[in-house]
Amino acid sequence: MTLFRGTVLDTPDDPFAGGSLRATADAGLLVHDGVITERGDFGDLHARHPDEDVVDLSGGLVLPGFVDTHVHFPQVRAIGGLGLPLLDWLEQCALPEEARLADLGYAESVAAEFVSGLAQAGTTTAMVFGAHFAPAVDALFTEAARVGLRVTSGLVVSDRLLRPELLTTPQRAYDEGKALAERWHGVGRTRYAVIPRFSLSCGNELLDSCSQLLKDVEECYFTSHINENTREIATVARLFDLSHYLETYDQHDLIGRRSILAHNVHPTDAELKVLASRDASVSHCPTSNSALGSGLFPLTRHLAYGVRVALGTDVGAGTGFSMLKEALQAYFMQALLSEQGFQLEPAHLLHLVTNAGANALGLADQAGDLSVGKRFDAQWLCPAADTTFDVALRNASGAEDALAKAFTLGTTADVRGVWVDGEPIDVSVI
Ligand SMILES: [Zn+2]
Repeated sequence: MTLFRGTVLDTPDDPFAGGSLRATADAGLLVHDGVITERGDFGDLHARHPDEDVVDLSGGLVLPGFVDTHVHFPQVRAIGGLGLPLLDWLEQCALPEEARLADLGYAESVAAEFVSGLAQAGTTTAMVFGAHFAPAVDALFTEAARVGLRVTSGLVVSDRLLRPELLTTPQRAYDEGKALAERWHGVGRTRYAVIPRFSLSCGNELLDSCSQLLKDVEECYFTSHINENTREIATVARLFDLSHYLETYDQHDLIGRRSILAHNVHPTDAELKVLASRDASVSHCPTSNSALGSGLFPLTRHLAYGVRVALGTDVGAGTGFSMLKEALQAYFMQALLSEQGFQLEPAHLLHLVTNAGANALGLADQAGDLSVGKRFDAQWLCPAADTTFDVALRNASGAEDALAKAFTLGTTADVRGVWVDGEPIDVSVI
């Protein structure tokens, strides 16, 4: 057993439903076989368990590991392609890079950089958009398993309107996806997701094959994009004779409790109603939406309809792996929406990057906060002495204020340690 010591902040009670931040100064968390078995005052716990190893994380903050619900494995090296709207950015920045993952050696290097990027940012769980090439997806799962992160991912499929080397057929998509799922779904911390890139690049037969795979792999996940950009939405409307974008997926039974749709910046009320009725989740990606000029996310409308919302970095349209930055950008965007925006407090931000993501991924019983009975998936955020973040933390008026400082000033460089199931994660690129 290990006794972790530190100032612990988490949000087991949903702040969007009246809950508030839970803050325990000088807390002790006793961890046995990866599970938190006791939580309380460090002095009390240490007195009762004097022989256990102590990991002292005093100074800074201990937070639950972050959950990134939308991030693209093949786009690590495409981060920073500023100045373009979605479809031009895909054409000029993202897709040429994604095509390079046909080379397995290249894909293995990117997989190492990608998994390390998540871990360095304090992210312990992620829904990952894989590559268009099965061996590259296998390389991603192999690296995620080696490092020890909780990764749900899969083969990305398309059969039209992208560069030819990224296209597949419905049968091949099914066969390759099935083989990957058999190898990785429910193995250790990895799980499989069916991933059509977006309906713009996927015809009905391909979406049918996705539907079949989703049915054939028990408790399989689904993820894709929706309603990101007005030109994309207009193109999808031309390609499908349906009442709205969501129906392109929903008519193939792809939308349910284990579905996460990225963006949804421009939803209709009908779509929000269907998303809520299917209990599906939306991944809001604010730095990506800002960088591509996609629009301001209507969080208030999602909440009004009862649609689950979590956050994603959307690397590489997003500006990096930091969920601290992502949460701050979410706050900015709601502030810019003035009376139509939702006034996000620090506890809301923490919840969006932890419990909300774990909930979207069906992992709420294991991750998302640091309660007794959950796995010890955590990070130690501790700035170097005398940096502005350090000064701000030392002078914070209380836990809420300290958390606000963390979201405002914290970076990946301040993540001093990361644990999954109580085991330290090596964040270096091998
Ligand atoms: Zn994306």
